[in-house]
Amino acid sequence: MQQTGGSPIAIASPLPRKSRQARVVWRNNVVTVGGDAPVRVQSMTNTDTVEAVETAIQVRQLAQAGSEMVRITVNTPEAAAAVPYIREQLDRMGEYVPLVGDFHYNGHRLLTDYPACAEALSKYRINPGNVGKGDKKDKQFGQMIEIAAKYDKAVRIGVNWGSMDQEIMAELMDQNSRRARPWETRQVMYEALITSAISSAELARNIGLNPDNIILSCKVSGVQDLISVYRELARRCDYALHLGLTEAGMATKGTVASTAALSVLLQEGIGDTIRVSLTPQPGEARTQEVVVASEILQALGLRVFVPSVTACPGCGRTTSTTFQELAKQIDDFLRGEMPVWRAKYPGVEAMKVAVMGCIVNGPGESKHADIGISLPGNGEAPAAPVFIDGEKALTLRGEHIAQEFQALVQSYVERRYGQPG
Ligand code: SF4
Repeated sequence: MQQTGGSPIAIASPLPRKSRQARVVWRNNVVTVGGDAPVRVQSMTNTDTVEAVETAIQVRQLAQAGSEMVRITVNTPEAAAAVPYIREQLDRMGEYVPLVGDFHYNGHRLLTDYPACAEALSKYRINPGNVGKGDKKDKQFGQMIEIAAKYDKAVRIGVNWGSMDQEIMAELMDQNSRRARPWETRQVMYEALITSAISSAELARNIGLNPDNIILSCKVSGVQDLISVYRELARRCDYALHLGLTEAGMATKGTVASTAALSVLLQEGIGDTIRVSLTPQPGEARTQEVVVASEILQALGLRVFVPSVTACPGCGRTTSTTFQELAKQIDDFLRGEMPVWRAKYPGVEAMKVAVMGCIVNGPGESKHADIGISLPGNGEAPAAPVFIDGEKALTLRGEHIAQEFQALVQSYVERRYGQPG
């Protein structure tokens, strides 16, 4: 064997974040964003806000899936009138997840005309590209900020390249045309996004908003664009940052694009709260975006939300689908139990479960897990050894391996994470 190097190989981990800390509050539930707070998961409903009960139910589903703040559209007087009722429904269910109001065009009027809406929301999302044109822009933006300051609410100044402030863009394009070596249009757009966010934040501070209550975002839909913009945004300011790829897309494409972009930035210590903007596939639960966001944070080692299931990909050594079905079943079982387990079994989210397809890596991977099963591959004896805390504990056989393994996981959780007494 070759002589090993003189110093140990560095263990990779995300760089620390350096932002201010905002507080998003509803009753006793204080969700800190930025500073030393964990990176937060948030999401957005796709119900009509006017349908208060339906919206409250979806907010609850998102919260139970792990969303620590939930945004709802507030686009009409009827929607603004429904917000306090949605809040009341949630409070009645004992669901104190903070609600974020998403405002465009008429937010100044809605927040002024519906004070109960302004109070029931814990945070306002304001898009400086959509608050009005010319003289009205600063006035209407200022109106919303004054209300946020009055109620001590957090504000996300959320710039989006699909609704850029055209005045800023035009001015920067003009400046660019006078450069001896003009920048690419894409680079001017980066500058416009960041300028719009930071200058709006400065204006909000001048109006009286606590700078700690300001969260910024500059969303674009390209992975490399997002990385470029957020690196520079983080360099230029210390506000808490909301991170997400806008219009990420559907299914695999949306999941992969969001994961690629967010992972790079989170590893660099950039991003204090994330949203994965997935387009749900027909019939797919809205909560999928929360699952993906949580998995990104858990994969990077930034948060732990649910016990992880290590499963092999399968290959020609195991042509049966038994282990795929078992892995899926166990994963669904763990996720389904988590809302109850989280309160009942502290620490259970860090549990590791392995479901493996054959003897090649099965016993080894199962020993590394807290509890693992190695199913028989082609031509192996029809027996599935189960490993608990690194030791072979028993062997399952027969038709009911799946149910028996699930029962073993349940009793392991009770024994290891249950509170004495
Ligand atoms: S553990 Fe066995 S079945 Fe699974 S991928 Fe490896 S060799 Fe294939």
